[in-house]
Order: sequence, then structure tokens, then C-alpha cells
Amino acid sequence: MSPGAADSLDSMTAETTHTTAASAPAASAPAASAPAASAPAASAGVRHVPAYAAPAASAPLERTTVPRRAVGEHDVLIDIKYAGICHSDIHQARDGWGEGIFPMVPGHEIAGVVAEVGPGVTKFAVGDRVGVGCMVDSCRTCEACEAGLEQYCERGNIQTYNALDKNGEPTYGGYATQIVVDEAFTLRIPDGLSLDVAAPLLCAGITTYSPLAHWNAGPGKKVAVVGLGGLGHMAVKIAHAMGAEVTVLSQSLRKKDDGLRLGADHYYATSDEATFEQLAGAFDLIVSTVSAPLPFDKYLGLLRTDGALVNVGAPEEPVSLNVFSLMLRRKTLAGSAIGGIRETQEMLDFCAAHGLGADIELIRADQINEAYERVLRSDVRYRFVIDTATI
Ligand SMILES: [Zn+2]
Ligand SMILES: [Zn+2]
Repeated sequence: MSPGAADSLDSMTAETTHTTAASAPAASAPAASAPAASAPAASAGVRHVPAYAAPAASAPLERTTVPRRAVGEHDVLIDIKYAGICHSDIHQARDGWGEGIFPMVPGHEIAGVVAEVGPGVTKFAVGDRVGVGCMVDSCRTCEACEAGLEQYCERGNIQTYNALDKNGEPTYGGYATQIVVDEAFTLRIPDGLSLDVAAPLLCAGITTYSPLAHWNAGPGKKVAVVGLGGLGHMAVKIAHAMGAEVTVLSQSLRKKDDGLRLGADHYYATSDEATFEQLAGAFDLIVSTVSAPLPFDKYLGLLRTDGALVNVGAPEEPVSLNVFSLMLRRKTLAGSAIGGIRETQEMLDFCAAHGLGADIELIRADQINEAYERVLRSDVRYRFVIDTATI
């Protein structure tokens, strides 16, 4: 995506034509671009699709319809089959982060099948199994985007929901039957992965894969995962598949059997002070998936020289630590957010090669509000996934 300054902002507004269903993949459909045949209005080709939305902050989600833009030159129309429920969906639907755009259709763990492609689409064809994660676009020209780190786009990436798209319209997420996404932000789900267990990989999977890959989890490395929830259970599976020796650090031993089944070699309770003495200096990498503020000095004490403690869960409050906890063994305290598009594809391919999907509980759309309550109580093993056929 780099033909000079004609960036995607312009191409987005220019595409008012769209191909009809089942158009041939890419090049063989020249007839589709009849020059602005009957002066289509801006709304031409927009479809209204069934969805579940929060009508206002903290209001329960309810069935409605939302607009999807006309399928543009580089867009794919996806029939959504499954959508995972991420904890951040609940934060945003309840306006926990402020400035939410309502009505809001959450959902950034999307798996489905391509139903239609724009005339310029080259990566996908009708019938392909695809996924969409937390982003649907970015500036594509900044240093981060050029490096394949669209999640760190210097102008800010465009989130899958609760954001404004390049056309100025709100984005709506995956709790819906269809979505239109640029092919550049659409991922391929390999055949070996079922769509239902693949959906949560688009957020929980990449959020944990990216730091594990970046900090070189692998054979000979000792990795600790703090918290065994939606993110934590994927961190354990992925770190184990990468060949690392994996330890779960959880508040209690309540989920120990699960942790070991998921691939952990060891499991310790952090409510037990002896854990921190026993494991002092033990780890190369600690990935914290919890959103409660950690006592960082204690956890940094578990790292060996040059070790890193990486946060993928974010406490709402500022945190504090004694900098000596970092200095004495040249340790790193870091954060990481999802992953770029290239890396997300790499993660999906890795998970397919290792037979990894999320452990899920499949629900109907009319169970979403109840599922939210259960997520808040940590009463899910380990991800709710909505069967969108029930919307
Ligand atoms: Zn998420
Ligand atoms: Zn950018």
C-alpha cells in the first residue's frame, strides 16, 4: 500500500461502486467498474445488518441493525460466524474508558467466511475462511505501519468498533452477521483451525503471542504467565508450543488442573508468600495478563538478569515501583498491545500448525448480557464465543 501520496484516505472516499455477490476473485471482473453509472448517492451499497448493540453506556445489549459500508475496491464482505467476548468489550460497552460511541456493537474477535470481494481484492476470494481482530485500518504510511506494526501506528490505528473510520462513520464490531473490512486488515484462518475456537485468537491469541515472540520465548527459556483467564490460557498454550518451560502464577491453586492440562509445567499460588522466595530470580520472561495492579517489586524479584516483565493487562490506576528493582539485574518492565497484521497472520499459522485454539463456551446472542456478568466474575473457562447465527 504505498503508491505515493495518494493514500488510502482518498481511495476510501472514491469507491462508491461495488461488485455484486460472488464476483470472481480480483482481476477477472473488469465489467464491474462502469463509471459511476447512475450517480450513486453516498449511501449506495450500504447494507443494514442484524447486530447486538449497547444503545447507551451501561445499557444492556439488545438486537438491532447497523450499517455496513458498500464493498469498496479493496474491501471484503464477511459473513461473520463467530465473535469472541473480550473483557475490553465490557469496559467499552459500559463506557469504562470514557468517550464511547453509542450505539456500540462490540466484538474484535471475529471469524467468518468471505461473501463478496471488491474488484481490487487480490488476497481473498469468496468462500475463504477469514478473521478480523482489533484494528480495521491505520495510516499505512508512518514508520510503524511501514514496519508492520500497525497496532502502534503513529497516527493511531482505527479500532474495529467504538472508533471513527476514515469515512467519518462509526465502526461497529463483530456481534453482527456481516462486516466490511479492507483486505489489508483481514486475516486468513488456516483450514486446520475451527472458526469458533479461532475467533478468540484474533485478540487473546495475538495479545499474548506478540510479547512471547518478541522476548524470544522458546526452548531453554523460563516463562511465567500471571493470571489464567482468557489471555492467560492462550499465553500458556502458546508459550508451551514455542518450547518454553511455563509456570502459571495465579492467586490460588483453584485452576491448577486446567493450567497443567493447557501446557504449564508448574503452577504456583501468589497468595502464598513462599512462592516469591522459592521462585526468586527464576524467570527470563513474565507475561502479566491481569488488570489488577501488581506489586511490581515482588514480581520483578522473580526475574533473572536481563529478564523482562511484560504487561498485557492494564490496571486502571497508575502503578509504583522501586527503580532499584530494575537496576540491580538490568531488568525490563514493559507493555505490549496486540500485534501487527503480519504477526497476527504468523500467529494464526503457528496456532494451526500446533493445533491450538481457545477453550471456549459457545453462547447464543441473547446470552451476551449474562455472559458479561460471568466474565466480570471470572466465571468462564476460558472465552465466551457468540454463535452469530442466533443474532
Ligand atoms: Zn480484546
Ligand atoms: Zn501509521
